[in-house]
Amino acid sequence: MMSLSETLFARAKKVMPGGVNSPVRAFQSVGGTPRFIRAAKGSKIYDADGIEYLDYIGSWGPMILGHGNREVEAAVMQAVGNGLSFGACTEQEVQLAELVCQHIPHIEMIRMVSSGTEAVMSALRLARGYTHRDKVIKFAGCYHGHSDSMLIKAGSGALTFGSPDSAGVTKGAVADTLSAKYNDLDSVEALFAHNKDKIACVIVEPVAANMGVAVPKEGFLSGLRELCDANGSLLIFDEVITGFRLCFGGASQFFSVTPDLVTYGKIIGGGMPVGAYGGKREIMEHVSPLGPVYQAGTLSGNPIAMAAGIATLRYLLNHPEVYDKINSLAQYMVDEIRKLTTYTVNHIGSLFSLFFTKEAVYDYDGALKSDTAKYAVYFNRMLQHNIYMPPAQFEAVFIGNAHTRDDVDYTIQTIGNILKEDMQ
Ligand SMILES: *Cc1c(COP(=O)(O)O)cnc(C)c1O
Repeated sequence: MMSLSETLFARAKKVMPGGVNSPVRAFQSVGGTPRFIRAAKGSKIYDADGIEYLDYIGSWGPMILGHGNREVEAAVMQAVGNGLSFGACTEQEVQLAELVCQHIPHIEMIRMVSSGTEAVMSALRLARGYTHRDKVIKFAGCYHGHSDSMLIKAGSGALTFGSPDSAGVTKGAVADTLSAKYNDLDSVEALFAHNKDKIACVIVEPVAANMGVAVPKEGFLSGLRELCDANGSLLIFDEVITGFRLCFGGASQFFSVTPDLVTYGKIIGGGMPVGAYGGKREIMEHVSPLGPVYQAGTLSGNPIAMAAGIATLRYLLNHPEVYDKINSLAQYMVDEIRKLTTYTVNHIGSLFSLFFTKEAVYDYDGALKSDTAKYAVYFNRMLQHNIYMPPAQFEAVFIGNAHTRDDVDYTIQTIGNILKEDMQ
C-alpha cells in the first residue's frame, strides 16, 4: 500500500515541477519519497501518515525557537484578526525595524522585503548604485538566493568571467559576477588587482552554510574588510542564515567585523516570508523614495509576517539564554559525533555538518570531496529512525531551542549505530 506521502508526491509531480516548490525538498540527491509534512510542534514534525520525525532543519533556520512557540503563535493569531494585508504603512514595520536597528549598531536603517533572494538582489543593486561600479565578487559555494547574477557556476575560474549555473540566465547577467575562493584572501586580492576601480562590492556568507558548513578562518572576514576599504568597495554580509543565530547581532557581532550592508532572511520572519537588507544610513539613503535605487514590494512588510518576526526577535532578546542553550547542545552533539567517526564535522554555534570525507573542509572544493552517495545512505537510515536530517549533503544541520538533551542523545546513538554498520 502506498503511504499518503507517496500518494501526495504522485499528485504533486503532475502539477508542480518535480512535485515541489523548492528543489531540495524533492529528495533527489538522497533518493526516496519526500515526506509531506502536516504539522510540527517543538522539535518534531509529523508527516501526512502521522509519522513523527525529529526535525534538524527547522525550516532551514527560521524556526530557531522550535515549532509552535506560544508567543509567536499568539502574535500571529492576533495580527490575523486585524486583516491580512493593506499595502500601506503599519506600526509593525516600524517595530521590527526598530528591534533590529536598536540592537545591532551597524544597522542604522533597514528595508523589509519578502525573501532572502530579494534582500540580496536589492542589496547588490544598492551597492552598485551607491558606488557607480558594476562588478561584484562572490565566493564559490556560497548561496545568495536565486537571482540571476548570483547563479554563477560554483568553482568557476577565479579570474575569468563566470558561466551561468542555470539555464535561462544570460551570460550578460553574470558577466559582472566574479567568483573567488572561500577562505582564500589571495583569490580576492587577485580579482581586485585585475578589476581596478570596478568592484562595487564583495558579498559573502560570513559562515558558509550552503556548501555544508564551512567556518571562516581567522583573519578571513577582517581581511575582506581591509580589501574592500583599500579598494573603495562595499562589504556585504549575507546573514540570511547567521543573522540572529550565531548571536542576536549575527556573524558581524560574533566575529567583530563590520560590513557596510547586511542581508537577512529566515529567522527575521520567524517562519513567515520576510527578508531585509540594511546597514549604514548614508548608503541606505540611496534607496527609493529617498534616493535613486529603486526597490518596492506589494507584500513587503506584510503585517502577519512582521508579527511573526517581531515576536521571534523579541523572544530572542528577552531570552538570551537561548543562544547558550543551542550552542552548547550543538557543541555536545558535535563532540560526541567526533568520538564516533573520523569523518569531518564542521561546527559553529548551532550549525554543523557531517561531511563524508576525512579531509578538512574549508571551501567548496573541500566540500565536494564528500562522498554524497554515503550521505544519501546515512540520510535514509536516519529517516528510518525518525530523524529528519537535511536531504542533501551541502546543507547545514540546525539546532533550535526546542531540541532537548534526550533528542540529541537519541540522535547521537542512532548516528553511532549507522556509522558502525558499514559506513566508515
Ligand atoms: C536561504 C538563503 C538565501 C535565500 O533566501 P530565500 O528566502 O530562500 O530566498 C540567501 N542567502 C543565504 C545565505 C541563504 O541561506
